[in-house]
Amino acid sequence: MPYCRDCGTKMPDDALFCPNCGRPVEEKTSASLSLKEITVRYIIIGLIGGFLSITISSLLNTNLYFIPAFLSSILIIYMYRIRDFKDSLLAAFSIYLFYDGILGGFILGYSFISNVPYEMVWLPKLWEVILYASSPISAFVAAYIGVKITPEKKKAPVVLPPKGGKPQGGVIYSYDQLSSEVKI
Ligand SMILES: [Zn+2]
Repeated sequence: MPYCRDCGTKMPDDALFCPNCGRPVEEKTSASLSLKEITVRYIIIGLIGGFLSITISSLLNTNLYFIPAFLSSILIIYMYRIRDFKDSLLAAFSIYLFYDGILGGFILGYSFISNVPYEMVWLPKLWEVILYASSPISAFVAAYIGVKITPEKKKAPVVLPPKGGKPQGGVIYSYDQLSSEVKI
């Protein structure tokens, strides 16, 4: 159970604000996670993003270069509400790597099972060479776009004293996330 960093009050795990002083709970960045948590987190992100990329690339029977990994990186960063650029870079790199690994596993695995040598008959054009070589840069771009489109966490509501009246001391007892209604 987490504690408020301002007043030390015990808070529920899913609390967005301290129930005592209203301080917003900081979102978990990789800086606040242990090595084990980071590893598990980015393996899961990489796996989900990798399989999402495979799904996108199999929808169209054509070579999409880095586009599947690019699109799923942005989507996963948005879904995970990653607001920290370092974290979103880690997420994008994990997804790109897992996509490559899963895709390679499928292609080579198929070749292994069917006992047919894998050969690539492909004379690339110059723009294809450039597209392939610039693929890692697109991971940075995806990480940047992902962070930009991810909405900020809701701010703690500001409760103003009634006009003309004395400011009243108050405690926010609950913050109803669904209705955005403040109960005091
Ligand atoms: Zn507090």
